[in-house]
Amino acid sequence: MKALILEEIGKLALREVPEPEPGQGETLVAVTRCALCRTDAKMWLRGQRDLVLPRVLGHEICGVRESDGQRVAVWPAESCGKCSHCMAGSENLCGNIRVLGFNKDGGFAEKVMVGESSLLSLPSALGDDLACLAEPLACAINALEQSETPRGANILIFGAGSLGLLLALAAIDLGAIPTIVEINRDKLHRSRMFRIGLGIAAVESPGSGLFDIAINACPASETFHQGVSRLKPGGIFCMFSGFNQDENFPSCWINEIHYRQLRVVGAYGCARSHFTKAVNLLDRSQDEVRLLIDKEIDLESAPEGLQEILAGQALKIEVVFR
Ligand SMILES: [Zn+2]
Ligand SMILES: [Zn+2]
Repeated sequence: MKALILEEIGKLALREVPEPEPGQGETLVAVTRCALCRTDAKMWLRGQRDLVLPRVLGHEICGVRESDGQRVAVWPAESCGKCSHCMAGSENLCGNIRVLGFNKDGGFAEKVMVGESSLLSLPSALGDDLACLAEPLACAINALEQSETPRGANILIFGAGSLGLLLALAAIDLGAIPTIVEINRDKLHRSRMFRIGLGIAAVESPGSGLFDIAINACPASETFHQGVSRLKPGGIFCMFSGFNQDENFPSCWINEIHYRQLRVVGAYGCARSHFTKAVNLLDRSQDEVRLLIDKEIDLESAPEGLQEILAGQALKIEVVFR
């Protein structure tokens, strides 16, 4: 089968490799779509904490289970199923988790080997073009859950990239009111159809209003200061993206957390329950979500696609296997 392999940092190579052999409890999935993620691009060029090389990247996957021809979305992880985090439904915190495209081979290949319990059958009306976006949407749903989002909450979202927009979609589904901040005019423009469809306000700076929750869907560390200073007393800042550079945060920023009794929470990846909710929300929001897909490419073109994603020139690009 064909697979795009990250052999070393900076070196992606299209190779012919043997099909993986499923072990106990595993199954082969013929990949139909794998969406490109900014994290894939960053891993290619800079590495990542959880990346183990060589590796087939790609963690936004859907396909067909070989054993029965069922269309499935792939929750891109395998957890131990026994630890306290797994038992509590927070599998993404499992100490023994393996994640497809990070430390287990992912979806930039014609076939991927997956644990049976990581597969979710797709509703018949949900196309593969949308189903492969279940993972990023599930991560957004996790962030809103960590932020304890109530109905009517005003949420400040930094970044009008695909994750910021999926956060807004999931926030509206919870009855919350998102406002997106995006300093890049091209990105504001690129996201307009999606935002108009959902009636989401977007601004170049957050102004003077106060919010219940702030979430960063971009790596700029200034978003921490901006977010914290725009929170109501008792508000929550959710760190959804890691920050770009090493940064010494001035104590006056951190003291805001103390004086106004703010909370800072983290969100990383998604659990199975978030993934199930995401597939359901995609099914209910098909027309809107389709507006995020800029381009469909073949596996050979994935490196150029990743460059475009990294440069912020596209919202979502999907590799299509025929
Ligand atoms: Zn991703
Ligand atoms: Zn576990």
